[in-house]
Amino acid sequence: AKEVGRSIFQFYNKNMQKLNASEMILENGLRKAIDQNELELYYQPQFNLDSNEVSSFEALLRWNHPTIGHISPAEFIPLAEDTGLILSIGEWVITTVCKKIKEWHKKGYKSVSVAVNLSAKQFQQSKLAEIIKTAIDSNQIDPKFLEFEITEGAIQDAEKALLTLTKLKEIGVQIAVDDFGTGYSSLSYLKRFPIDTLKIDQSFVKDVLTDNKDAAITTTIIHLAESLGLAVIAEGVEEQEQVEFFKSMNCHKAQGYFFSKPLPEKEIIEHYLTK
Ligand code: C2E
Ligand code: CA
Ligand code: CA
Ligand code: CA
Repeated sequence: AKEVGRSIFQFYNKNMQKLNASEMILENGLRKAIDQNELELYYQPQFNLDSNEVSSFEALLRWNHPTIGHISPAEFIPLAEDTGLILSIGEWVITTVCKKIKEWHKKGYKSVSVAVNLSAKQFQQSKLAEIIKTAIDSNQIDPKFLEFEITEGAIQDAEKALLTLTKLKEIGVQIAVDDFGTGYSSLSYLKRFPIDTLKIDQSFVKDVLTDNKDAAITTTIIHLAESLGLAVIAEGVEEQEQVEFFKSMNCHKAQGYFFSKPLPEKEIIEHYLTK
């Protein structure tokens, strides 16, 4: 059984031999979710710690299931990955974000960038660059306002990953490494890959004030980013003292419940978008 915590997918079987009824319902539901407008994007602001201003937003997927209600991406993304549905869902996310950037810029909201999560399977699909280029072109947005978050797990085949990242940089989008430090991968890719930002994983941030090891790892990531000329952002920041810690360590950006939870578009416009 796949380990996804105490959820309705608890007995999910990767090779699909022993699907139970609720899983079957969910998989079929997920297939229709896009067409039936059940997917929604929330946005979590990312703050510039020097100016205390919002610099960008991370788009986070939500599934409003008609009978089950709100299903967390932590539960349905693994299912979407295993069934391949992530490719069409991911394309929907990319297209929707590009439309939003266009819409927000048209309404006069200044320099809004949005970060989009890419799962491993999406990152490895051969059409990825084409999908992104099409979404950018058909909405006529400046690609610099679009960032993609990939995890170290997605870059296992280094040659292929380099090729894909090079294509994405040619398009002009930004690249961040999500959950940085949790992927067991060699650091040598940082030398060769066109990466813009390291995202310090929230597991290191959580106890950064009380656990010396977390503090050491966090500080090292910040220095590493600095030496390599990369931007760095801390995620999962929940307390004022953590904000002070990251400020004092010269980490310039942070994101987390201390600042804001992920919010529906309407609230983002109300609270965070300024003309
Ligand atoms: P992630 O990319 O690492 O996103 C961070 C998660 O931490 C989000 O959970 C966010 O809501 C949550 N978070 C933000 N601030 C805090 C905080 O201060 N404290 C705590 N405890 N949590 C915080 P969420 O939205 O449930 O997303 C879970 C995961 O699902 C994401 O992890 C990402 O891997 C995946 N995901 C979400 N949206 C998408 C998407 O559009 N495409 C793909 N491929 N994956 C997505
Ligand atoms: Ca992310
Ligand atoms: Ca993350
Ligand atoms: Ca994560």
